[in-house]
Amino acid sequence: MSIPRIGIGSDVHRLVEGVPMHLAGLAWPDEPRGLEGHSDADVAAHAACDALFSAAGLGDLGSNFGTSEPQWAGASGATLLAETARRVRDAGFEIGNVAVQVIGNAPRLGPRRDEAQEALGRAAGAPVTVTATTTDGLGLTGRGEGVAAIATALVISA
Ligand code: MG
Repeated sequence: MSIPRIGIGSDVHRLVEGVPMHLAGLAWPDEPRGLEGHSDADVAAHAACDALFSAAGLGDLGSNFGTSEPQWAGASGATLLAETARRVRDAGFEIGNVAVQVIGNAPRLGPRRDEAQEALGRAAGAPVTVTATTTDGLGLTGRGEGVAAIATALVISA
């Protein structure tokens, strides 16, 4: 019997002026600020990657796509998620699902939830659900200094 394995991942990136916002596999051209990072800083996609690596026991985002590897500089979150899913499957796992929760004040994910789930689900080749919450004005996300995400993933030995 194949026993399902769960994994966990999280990510935070800083919100800055003059940077395009990429979040949950989507561009947000109306956002005045974006997330800063080595790649496109899509915290939702990155948390999903980390959860998948965690579930499969394949290390984490940093050990797979290190900042020392220039090929991943500027990579989109969807690109990293697709490559993550490929590595997880290569290691002998099927992906059950991934659940991502975004924590922050903006952008408002609700109106584009279906689009986000579709974009990340296409990248992962498996269902990805996207939810969102705020922190009542508290902490780095509440003060608008950054956006965070947390994710879980379930994989099954193929
Ligand atoms: Mg990140």
